[in-house]
Amino acid sequence: MFKHLMPKQTPPLLPIALVGEAILGQTAITVHHFDAELAHLAEQMSASMEAAKGVGIAAPQVHSPLALFIMASRPNERYPDAPNMAPVVVVNPQIIHASSDLVGGEEGCLSVPGQRFNILRHQAIEVRYQNLQGEWQQAELTGFIARIFQHEFDHLQGITLLERSRMPEQAQLISAQSIEQGEAQ
Ligand SMILES: [Zn+2]
Repeated sequence: MFKHLMPKQTPPLLPIALVGEAILGQTAITVHHFDAELAHLAEQMSASMEAAKGVGIAAPQVHSPLALFIMASRPNERYPDAPNMAPVVVVNPQIIHASSDLVGGEEGCLSVPGQRFNILRHQAIEVRYQNLQGEWQQAELTGFIARIFQHEFDHLQGITLLERSRMPEQAQLISAQSIEQGEAQ
């Protein structure tokens, strides 16, 4: 078992599921219980994401089947150009509107170590989700943050970067004029 020496307050790190593991191919299940156990899972996910220098992490990536992810964009070694945002816990997310314009950008994934993919994502999205208290939130996201949301949302549908990069609409990327400067999760 892999062990890490961590400061006392940090919850134990969760092992990250790697591409090919069944959990990453499954549709996540709706969260109904907004309890201490859910908050604890979010805390552990957050610590595991930070330790791995991610800017987002979805529950299936830590072997949980729940429809939950964390977005936490900030510059680090893996994403030096990432914008700063306070971490957001996203439960039972829905994309209620997506802009027709797609933008290309580089993405990596904690479950696909050492690889980067150019992926087309909607430039802007309107989303709904619940917070850890179960309260519904609505937000409009653009650019890098919208990209993280779409990447993590994919995980909850059982889609990793490998499947996404092979989808027909991604072929447009080859003829795309410009690649977005910022990298993504
Ligand atoms: Zn990922």
